Amino acid sequence: MNKSISIELFPPKTDKGMEKMKAAVGELSQLKPEYVSVTYGAGGSTQEGTYATVDWLVEQGIETAPHLSCIGSSREEIHDILERYKAQGIHRIVALRGDLPSGAGLGSLGELNYANELVSFIREAFADHFQLEVAAYPEYHPQAPSSDTDLINFKRKVEAGANTAITQYFYNADAYFHFVENCEQMGLTIPIIPGIMPITNYTQLARFSDACGAEIPRWVRKRLEGFGDDLEGIRAFGADVVSELCERLLKGGAPGLHFYTMNQSAPILEITRRLSLNN
Ligand code: FAD
Repeated sequence: MNKSISIELFPPKTDKGMEKMKAAVGELSQLKPEYVSVTYGAGGSTQEGTYATVDWLVEQGIETAPHLSCIGSSREEIHDILERYKAQGIHRIVALRGDLPSGAGLGSLGELNYANELVSFIREAFADHFQLEVAAYPEYHPQAPSSDTDLINFKRKVEAGANTAITQYFYNADAYFHFVENCEQMGLTIPIIPGIMPITNYTQLARFSDACGAEIPRWVRKRLEGFGDDLEGIRAFGADVVSELCERLLKGGAPGLHFYTMNQSAPILEITRRLSLNN
């Protein structure tokens, strides 16, 4: 299969968490991911953890893409972080605005307020050294005043120099296909890779989804609610839903899949096994 597979980790907070994450990366290596990305808390809140995770991945010889969010940081701070990554031989960055602390307004939080400004800044300071991935929202960003405005703002990131986009997770394939079609109509042809979130824990997923504006279709929500504490049932049903989604996306022309692993390998390997992607 000529589709790109990538996986996303978050920086663990404890030694035990780090060991679990390392084990998950070992197990997921059978998918031969094109790269492994590592999240980064806005304003540098996870900086040490992100560095520790990135350092370990680089030591393993794994193609690594640190996330970098600009909100709450100065240009100089961002520049220093990028210099560090460049010195490590890193060539790929996931460039984001980041999430604002609740109640905060823009302006006082940093010097770069939107991801397109971060992309422009990186291109000015580092030319084409980094391949830049940006975020895309098939169900639209929760703060966007309208779908059209959000598309225009997505276009700004592409025009600023993004090479590829990774989407927020979604469970409705049509939202993705419509988004890609709208982008093509606007002349945007960069690969837009669907972000895939496995379903393993309903309460957590519902909370995330409310916060990030990803819709869990009513029938899926109802079925998940019906499982109550039956975690095995949730996982089995979740694997059905997500593997069918992935199959539709790949058949419909999605250029790859980016898995939000939550530092766990089993739910991803179950999905990829069903898609015959495991080696
Ligand atoms: P932007 O593209 O800047 O968009 C944010 C909002 O502002 C949108 O509503 C957009 O329409 C609007 N907008 C954009 N540009 C302009 C402009 N020039 N003028 C006016 N309005 C504008 N968060 C983290 O903190 N750390 C992570 O590691 C992280 N990883 C992520 C990975 C992926 C693949 C995705 C999809 C999201 C990730 N997030 C992460 C969450 C992300 O930071 C939030 O969704 C955030 O609210 C928006 O980030 P963005 O880069 O999409 O912002």
